[in-house]
Amino acid sequence: MDEPKKHVGDSTFQLRATRRMSVIAQDPSITRPNGNILMAQIDVPAEDLQPGPMGYRVQIVDYDAATGKYGGAYELPAEGKEPKAWIDGDPAIVRNFAFHAQNAYALVMQTLARFEFALGRRVGWSFKVHQLKVAPHGMMDANAFYSRDDEGLVFGYFPGLDQKNVYTCLSHDIVVHETTHALLDAQRQRYMDPSGPDQAAFHEGFADVIALLSVFSQVELVAELLRRGPGGREYLDDDDVRAEALRKTALFGLADQMGKEMDAVRGDALRRSAEMGPDRTWMKDAEFEEPHRRGEVFVAAVMNGFLEVWTARLQAAKAPDQTKHMRQRVAEEGSDIAAALVTMWIRALDYMPPVHMEFGDALSAAITADSEVRPDDKRYGLRARTLASFRAYGIEPRATRADEAGAWPYENRKMRYDRVRFDSMRTDKDEVFRFIWDNRDKLDLRPGAYTEVLSVRPCTRTGIDGFILRETVAEYYQVARLTEAELQQKKIKLPEEYVKEVERNRDERKGNRDKRLGESDPDEAGDDSDSAPVTPVYGGGVLIFDEYGKVKYHVHNDVFGSRQTARLQYLWESGHLRAGADGARLSPARLSDLHRARAIGVRRIREERW
Ligand SMILES: [Zn+2]
Repeated sequence: MDEPKKHVGDSTFQLRATRRMSVIAQDPSITRPNGNILMAQIDVPAEDLQPGPMGYRVQIVDYDAATGKYGGAYELPAEGKEPKAWIDGDPAIVRNFAFHAQNAYALVMQTLARFEFALGRRVGWSFKVHQLKVAPHGMMDANAFYSRDDEGLVFGYFPGLDQKNVYTCLSHDIVVHETTHALLDAQRQRYMDPSGPDQAAFHEGFADVIALLSVFSQVELVAELLRRGPGGREYLDDDDVRAEALRKTALFGLADQMGKEMDAVRGDALRRSAEMGPDRTWMKDAEFEEPHRRGEVFVAAVMNGFLEVWTARLQAAKAPDQTKHMRQRVAEEGSDIAAALVTMWIRALDYMPPVHMEFGDALSAAITADSEVRPDDKRYGLRARTLASFRAYGIEPRATRADEAGAWPYENRKMRYDRVRFDSMRTDKDEVFRFIWDNRDKLDLRPGAYTEVLSVRPCTRTGIDGFILRETVAEYYQVARLTEAELQQKKIKLPEEYVKEVERNRDERKGNRDKRLGESDPDEAGDDSDSAPVTPVYGGGVLIFDEYGKVKYHVHNDVFGSRQTARLQYLWESGHLRAGADGARLSPARLSDLHRARAIGVRRIREERW
């Protein structure tokens, strides 16, 4: 997955695109036989850091809300000057806050670089400032979260089983998971809005997938974790490289240490979604409407597809009478496949609808994105196996195409291009809006809905075989506030209980007003409570322009589409749709709240959550 290192000239010429940093490979609970923590050397974008550290995209702020204290700004050692303890994984680094700062900084930057490589462009945050704030010890809590309002990531710490603190900022999986929330929010800002069960679940599932697959970029770590069977062997038995055995390794467990420290009885990783075997009923099960549970189905579908590819490659590569596999080779193969897969899933974001995403959309987006930049899938069968795995979990692609099963169809309708400027279309929202306006009928845009272009992003992508793809991705969304009569006209049904409650609230308000009759209340002057109550509905799409400025794909959800009825019903049942006297209020889900619920109450009552 890592971008090839770009050396300019020889080693005496220090203009390099990346620098190496030591990080904890998985978390402090994964140690070597000598008791040292297993470390990894990772490449992050090179830059001259200020103390903090503070770089061009990330700023470590060691503020602790529990104590109200600043831990100070840390100066990181220059490349090649790291203390031996950091490189060797001396257990003392668990209490070294300068190392904590480096660990969090490096993992956030590596994840950002991974997104920029996959998407083929600079990737910003969802807020105006350029630098994401990261608090490595932000609270005393077995928790971590991304907050758009605070423009940053907050990592907690908590006393472990031996009363020594456990630091979530030292867990690879937790840091990458939270960074992924921030990066996903920047690409699809409306995914944190209330929608159906899949959209909330996707934020969690996607963050877990990126965290799990990122581990595989470190070949040495993969080889080390594969060795952990009895004996610690150089060669693995054939049975060890079957899906059932690999699934049980630490490679497929998320946040091992945190899980163990929070639950001594279970003593395992926080989540082991990959162990949920294929079952088509989960997606229909009420328990799996809950976003976190549902997110695990997504993770299981991705990771089991990955296992299929990996084990098939290993079986195909062996001689007929061969019973042993070289551990290092098994690790390298897994690492290569994971690199292709993580890139495919990050690229998929550009091909997903900007609102009301469902797992089937994500699947079609991933297949399309991958086929565009890696047309030949013979080596891994990555797309076919991913598709088969999702189907085994009851998730069908939203679309399909004759030449590529599960992919979005090409946009074939003849659009008009004569009034827009091709150059500006690559970057200018107004120009793209003009294009959309000129073609609103062909794009199935609905009159009566407000339309806004959310983003226009040019990108240049490189396939693993050097193939280069240039595209521009533009997102727009539509919103309409409709009365019950207007909704009926469009065949959208409101939840019955919701309608009753709106009526109750209106009667109550009317009663209050009648009581006050005769009093002159200036606030009542502009009151429009007699106008019919309205409910908002959202839609939108993404337009993929090819390098000649022609629309190649148009992925969209109709603002008045047939799926709105089910969506409104879900929003009502999940408490996101609230009835006011004049209609609906939508209350957004907050990731930090979700994580809180997972870490505190919910977890104790039910099971592992964070
Ligand atoms: Zn999360």
